[in-house]
Amino acid sequence: MQALATPATPALLETLSPSRAADFKVCPQLFKFKAIDKIETPPTPSQARGTTAHLALQRLFDEPTAARTPERLADLFRTAWTELRSSDYVGLFATVEDERRWGLDSLAVLGNYFGLEDPTSFEPLHRELDVSEDIGDMRIRGILDRVEQTGDGLVITDYKTGAAPPEHFALKAFFALKIYGVLIRRITGDTPVGLRLLYLNGPTVYRIPIGDRQLDAMERQLEALWAAINRAIATGWFPPRPGRLCDWCPYRDRCPAFSDETADPTGVALPLPVAAHRTGA
Ligand code: SF4
Repeated sequence: MQALATPATPALLETLSPSRAADFKVCPQLFKFKAIDKIETPPTPSQARGTTAHLALQRLFDEPTAARTPERLADLFRTAWTELRSSDYVGLFATVEDERRWGLDSLAVLGNYFGLEDPTSFEPLHRELDVSEDIGDMRIRGILDRVEQTGDGLVITDYKTGAAPPEHFALKAFFALKIYGVLIRRITGDTPVGLRLLYLNGPTVYRIPIGDRQLDAMERQLEALWAAINRAIATGWFPPRPGRLCDWCPYRDRCPAFSDETADPTGVALPLPVAAHRTGA
């Protein structure tokens, strides 16, 4: 008699990054595409701008204070792009003219930085900090842009090169940064006092105060989110949540919410099978 094959049991996640946690909150199906199925999408000029600008801003603080000028930042951007274009972004632009136009637009966006803060007035405590911490039975891991010590306490800063959202949507954009606040509190023992989003393409700075009460609430929210993610993995049920983000979603073509075969008329998609594997997100 032939033995029946044991169905594969979907494994639980080992790690979760703040940005994947934010994805799950916004749209579980988006999370599945990225974190479970790990479907690669072609790099875009916007991503290239973000990566290159982050590298240039990180390196700006390697410079002596007097050299932290707009001209130096533009040079650092050009150098960073020379490195990245031949590694991560080969063939991104169809023509030299497209690339040149992208470069000029990017430099204009980056030039806004100096209207948002004065990089000669402080020394960051950390840049591109790789943080990892166990909370309950989950491991949270991510890289945060910057931490600085102010007179009031620690402030966490995140650079954004995408367009700044209107103020009434900005609060949602702090979700991932609050998770970093939880991690920094656990690692340093100090409670951060503020979170800042620097939108170069605005240009706009959004800042919220933070304290133990908000970070305690975030920890509880994270535990609930972790449980929800593991339930979704166990059941294979990652409902799409159509919204504003769909217009920019790289998975829209394969999303059940937009597929005649799998979506129902209410826009609530049918569950899809999930592949079994161990992974980090
Ligand atoms: S297209 Fe919209 S609903 Fe579908 S995965 Fe992307 S964000 Fe979610």
